[in-house]
Amino acid sequence: MKSTGRCLCGAVTYKVEGEPLVVAQCHCEECRRTSGTGHTVGAMFRADQVEMQGELGEHIYASSKNSQVTKAFCPKCGSPMFGRNTNAPDHMTLPLGSMDTAEALAVQVVIFNRDKQHWDALPETAAIFETQPDWKPETV
Ligand SMILES: [Zn+2]
Ligand SMILES: [Zn+2]
Repeated sequence: MKSTGRCLCGAVTYKVEGEPLVVAQCHCEECRRTSGTGHTVGAMFRADQVEMQGELGEHIYASSKNSQVTKAFCPKCGSPMFGRNTNAPDHMTLPLGSMDTAEALAVQVVIFNRDKQHWDALPETAAIFETQPDWKPETV
């Protein structure tokens, strides 16, 4: 596959070529906090398959396996752009949501399922709209 991607504001863009090693959904606490939602979905590529452009911010932390994880993001709009782990230093994981098209990809592995939040699955009672409904909070 050949894909392009970008952050929300467009200051960071990338090109990626070739097949990912794996597509994983992760429910760990770090992914929950960095995404602001229940999980991340990332495709791991060899670093030489990826060409990143634009200035990046970084946050570095220790993983549960004592490796060092780097999360890179756009400093202008905050979008997550990639993750790296010293366990696999020649690789980087790109969020599927940043890709212009990820049609060819599907989740193969789910990790940290024990940390999955109950609200990260739709209840049958959820009201579902195809676009933003015409609704506003009532003013008091
Ligand atoms: Zn941005
Ligand atoms: Zn995670």
